[in-house]
Amino acid sequence: PLFSGRSAMMHHIGVRNIIKNWGAFSALKDVNLDVREGEFLSILGPSGCGKSTLLRIIAGLEEPSGGEIFIAGQNVTLDPVWKRKIGFVFQNFALWPHLTVFRNVSMGLELRKTEKAELYNRVMEALRMVQLEALADRLPAQLSGGQQQRVALARAIVLKPAVLLLDEPLSALDKNLRQDMQVELKALQQTLGLTTIFVTHDQEEALSLSDRVVVMNKGVIEQLGTPDAIYNQPVSEYVAGFVGEACFFEGRIEGNGQAKTLRLSDGTAVPIRGNGIQVGQSAVAFVRPEWIDLNKLDISLSPGSPQGTIERLMFFGQSSDYLVRLGDRQLRVKYKSDGPRLAPGDTVALCCVARVLPGNGAAS
Ligand code: ATP
Repeated sequence: PLFSGRSAMMHHIGVRNIIKNWGAFSALKDVNLDVREGEFLSILGPSGCGKSTLLRIIAGLEEPSGGEIFIAGQNVTLDPVWKRKIGFVFQNFALWPHLTVFRNVSMGLELRKTEKAELYNRVMEALRMVQLEALADRLPAQLSGGQQQRVALARAIVLKPAVLLLDEPLSALDKNLRQDMQVELKALQQTLGLTTIFVTHDQEEALSLSDRVVVMNKGVIEQLGTPDAIYNQPVSEYVAGFVGEACFFEGRIEGNGQAKTLRLSDGTAVPIRGNGIQVGQSAVAFVRPEWIDLNKLDISLSPGSPQGTIERLMFFGQSSDYLVRLGDRQLRVKYKSDGPRLAPGDTVALCCVARVLPGNGAAS
């Protein structure tokens, strides 16, 4: 108990053994998570994996079937929403259509009987932060989607929460607006030092905004780590396949010394690396599209390396993808647009070092 205050400072939000059942269906199965003070943490996962349910339980909008929630060291599991000192913006954030932007933002303060001058200053400060002070007198219907989203954000931060919970707040926006809002949101979060949990199913959004990312799968946390660790050292096939693109190889580990390969059932040898991989074991390894080099077969110096045929070229402007047929599967390989010119029908050698997933021939 003596040190509980100190650990509360380090872990701003504590999720302890949270379970949520709806009848026989369990949406959250013993979830544990510590969010650090001032951290931007994203929860990533496919539809239905329990992201929103977890966020709603942290917010107090949903009651857990078991477990506890701590905010700033206080057990808030039984506290109603308004007691938790959090701000939130949910997916279908509803602004009050008949109230001006100003009143949409001020409502929370009005309910708290905030004194008039302070209320005015705080609302205008919040609107300034989201660059909407000039539109304070408009009605929501007179705003663009991005502006409405920013009103919702201002409404959340005007109460000066220490914690901001965001459930796909940018999902309704088109790509450009969404990217602008991502930058603004991140800047705001850092300026105010807000501990933020951000639910999304957009992997790029999660990787680019977050200090750490949680990847969920069917009610459990599959991996928690920095964006770099999640992308480059996924702990499972599920994470590797969900966050970014991956091509998987299954085979037996061969080799001696440093040079190890994975021998596939068709005889192909794929160079691999990973921690503590053991010769003779079977393993699953993966490669990312941008880890692969394609060489026309006649200039390849690596006999036995995977060979494929270019099926299609997809041009994206700043880069291109080659779709490569490799036995019974198709693989995507990324190239800067000034990369080697290959054409459909070309036979190519794939030069890549695949990474062995843990628990598959790897010691750790
Ligand atoms: P999405 O990205 O689609 O919003 P999610 O990961 O946020 O998905 P949740 O909304 O947390 O998923 O739902 C998790 C699971 O719990 C889903 O299978 C959903 O159908 C179920 N669920 C959610 N709310 C209820 C409810 N009130 N009653 C019964 N089942 C529910």
